[in-house]
Amino acid sequence: MCTDCRQQDVSRRRFIGTGAAGALVPLLNAAAWADKGADDVVCRAAWGAKPPSGKFKHHKIERVTIHHSGVVLAQNRDAPAALRGAQAYHQDSGFPDIAYHFMIDRHGHIYKGRPRWARGDTFTEYPTKGHLLLMCEGNFEEQDISSQQLASLCDVAAWATRLFDIPIGRIRGHRDYAATACPGEDLYRRLENGSIKKRVRRRNESGGINLEQLCGKKGKRLVHRIEMGTD
Ligand SMILES: [Zn+2]
Repeated sequence: MCTDCRQQDVSRRRFIGTGAAGALVPLLNAAAWADKGADDVVCRAAWGAKPPSGKFKHHKIERVTIHHSGVVLAQNRDAPAALRGAQAYHQDSGFPDIAYHFMIDRHGHIYKGRPRWARGDTFTEYPTKGHLLLMCEGNFEEQDISSQQLASLCDVAAWATRLFDIPIGRIRGHRDYAATACPGEDLYRRLENGSIKKRVRRRNESGGINLEQLCGKKGKRLVHRIEMGTD
């Protein structure tokens, strides 16, 4: 079980209420979703992402594919540094950017990766075209996903399936496409037993969720708190 996140305050997630299901609106259109709920997404500048180092290939999102980092994150305060390290490693390996579109830490903070219109990258053999790649920090072969992390993962998956009109059955794990343990046993079993899909469906049936970028001073302050171990 996650032992480093039990006492954390999760009030940062702002649930403004749930309205009736409405029309789809573009990403980060906060005003149009004001009667629903929104999660903050730490913008790239706030977590210290470098600019892309190469050209992206465009794609149209048709499925959601879930990953883990494969590394046990002993302290969640190390998450932003782990992401900076992952981006550097991916860019050194020839990818234009961190491989994923969204990353989620042990406390459920969501970070923006590469643009969603950009095809993801992989060290394994599968075509990433059409896949929205979500990555949870941790190694779920060795540890359980935390409840905050799972909640944020379901939120991002709900946002994506609704916005891009993706059937719930197309929320799958990396190992469904390639020879890998990713996203680890504890996370994969929640995909297999339908519990993630159920939460995503319920979330969308109750009005959906929006993602709002947290940038500038607010974003930097949040990352500072995460790195101090206080958020
Ligand atoms: Zn993976």
